[in-house]
Amino acid sequence: MTSTIQQTIDELRDALTKYIEATYHIGHPAMVRQRRRLLEEPGGIFQFPYLESTPRYVSGERYENMSGIPRAAREALTLLAEQTLGKPLLFNPPYSHQADAIQEALRNKKNLMVMTGTGSGKTEAFLLPILGKLAIEARDHSGNFVKFSALRAIILYPMNALVNDQLGRLRLLFGDSRVVSMFEKWAGRPARFARYTSRTPYAGVRSPKKDSSRLSSVGDFYADIEQAARRHAAGRPHIAKEDARGSQLPEKLRRRGKWPAKESISAWFGQPHSQWRDRNGDYRRGVLRAHDAELLTRHEVQTNPPDLLITNYSMLEYMMMRPIERSIFDKTKAWLEACPDERILVVLDEAHLYRGAQGAEVGLLLRRLRERLGVPSERFQVICATASFSPEGQQTADQFGAQLTGVSAEAFVSIVGKLATREPAAHGTESDVSALCKVNLGTFYAADTGEQALAIEPFLRYRNEPLLEDIGKALFGALEAFAPFNQLVNETMKAAIAPSELGARVFPGIEPTRADAAVGTLLALGSRARLAAHEPSLLPCRIHSFFRGLPGLWVCMDPNCLELEKDERGGPGGKLYAQPYERCACGAPVLQYFTCRHCGTSYARAYTDNVSDPRFTWANPGERLQTDAGFFEAHHPLDILLEAPSRKGAAPQITISGQDC
Ligand SMILES: [Zn+2]
Ligand SMILES: [Zn+2]
Repeated sequence: MTSTIQQTIDELRDALTKYIEATYHIGHPAMVRQRRRLLEEPGGIFQFPYLESTPRYVSGERYENMSGIPRAAREALTLLAEQTLGKPLLFNPPYSHQADAIQEALRNKKNLMVMTGTGSGKTEAFLLPILGKLAIEARDHSGNFVKFSALRAIILYPMNALVNDQLGRLRLLFGDSRVVSMFEKWAGRPARFARYTSRTPYAGVRSPKKDSSRLSSVGDFYADIEQAARRHAAGRPHIAKEDARGSQLPEKLRRRGKWPAKESISAWFGQPHSQWRDRNGDYRRGVLRAHDAELLTRHEVQTNPPDLLITNYSMLEYMMMRPIERSIFDKTKAWLEACPDERILVVLDEAHLYRGAQGAEVGLLLRRLRERLGVPSERFQVICATASFSPEGQQTADQFGAQLTGVSAEAFVSIVGKLATREPAAHGTESDVSALCKVNLGTFYAADTGEQALAIEPFLRYRNEPLLEDIGKALFGALEAFAPFNQLVNETMKAAIAPSELGARVFPGIEPTRADAAVGTLLALGSRARLAAHEPSLLPCRIHSFFRGLPGLWVCMDPNCLELEKDERGGPGGKLYAQPYERCACGAPVLQYFTCRHCGTSYARAYTDNVSDPRFTWANPGERLQTDAGFFEAHHPLDILLEAPSRKGAAPQITISGQDC
């Protein structure tokens, strides 16, 4: 059975609680009970979750109808969205913000400030304009596209992890065989891309000796797998077992964007141990081949700058300073000089991260890049993308983009996603709440489907829906057009909301406990409602659920602590806290609480200035301090046993800084 949202959260919390209790052994039952209470309180190891339903966006114009954009781009996008060649590469129609981005960038030649949420296809909002731009040149000016190897587009990230994520997306788009053959048909070569970061092999001048050590890992890994797959495909009966297992691997990795977009890695890598260079001293292994969409080494990039480079801004900074990468900018400059109608496109993804000093650094970097390439700001197209700007701040966002990139704010357009909210939506009424409250969630959560049917039956009757054998389908019918349910989905689509706030938003004016209960039922039923087992539920959502380990425990030093109930007093310690306090509310000092890892005996850690004669203790060690009177050392730890160890004779009454008693 599929779990509901609350069940899933409860299970996670339960597993974490059990893990902590099993791992950190406490001997005394009174202390075990106290800790259990702390674990069950919000703010200890968990916080109340936030609910966010998956946003859906309004669709935009179909590619074939985008009349304003150059024909080559329209053709490319339409072709890649076709069903005929297997799974289409692009959705048609795209979301309205993706369609807007394509049209503003390619038709109106604007700079874009793309502000759409996560999961909105933000990446496509800049990858599709890049694809269109390259398609236009490849189809309409194929001579230039072939003649000039140049950076036509650069995608910049603030850090490497983000670059690596996006590399997979580039492979799935520009490495797709349909895209490769489309470009080859037009211009006789694929659109090429490369990742250029510290992970790209390798720094410095190329040499056969360095190739052997630095490129062999690539060869060993990819080429071996590829060859094994090929042997398997050839159907040789005596192939080893590993070959059979590995035969599917390249395809699996390719589908996930984890396989370099080269026609053949083993052909690129060449025969292991063969010469890297030919007789003339030219490299013949590890060089770009005609059908390769991806460049793997820095030297490939330096020799043939790719159409699209993805990197981080500090690497771009280095590249512009180092002589070895000079060819990349020289060749790009030559392309821009020879093709006065072309512009270089720079994408700044996660643009909100470029603030303060980092923003100034990137701003200056882009101005230097322009200077280096010898182009005015009009020939420098920019797409800034972020999920963290609010659409309300459009004016400021354009100004931010302009300041960051040095192009005028007027040349910027804001691209914002439009949420496709559910209809009909309205606040729930008293009778809605009554119907929902009749659903017995306890029974609904039971494993038996017969009982579940019984639990939802009154609600189905209220909605005039038949009780079907497929409970998910029955609930789908009952909720699909239920106005308060759609209200709940719409509210949580705009922002993540704590379930405790949802009652007032969906059922305003209804007594809060009943409104909360009705929301709880809606969440439970909505997450089960689906047309078929493989379909998403009617409430596809993300739960932001917060968990952590216990940062520590602290204990009141008075076993008869007044903060404890009468029958709880007299144990090894007073009240247990999940965070440090100077003093307990009863007035006694509070120290950090530990237990022996073997027997669970309780002790508290204090600090003293004199271990052999500890007259005073503190809760903290303090720090070494230099004064006119000399050094004051930090205090020494002193562990105070709070109960006799369960194993006789295991330890003296006071031990120093031990984990064992
Ligand atoms: Zn106390
Ligand atoms: Zn022990």
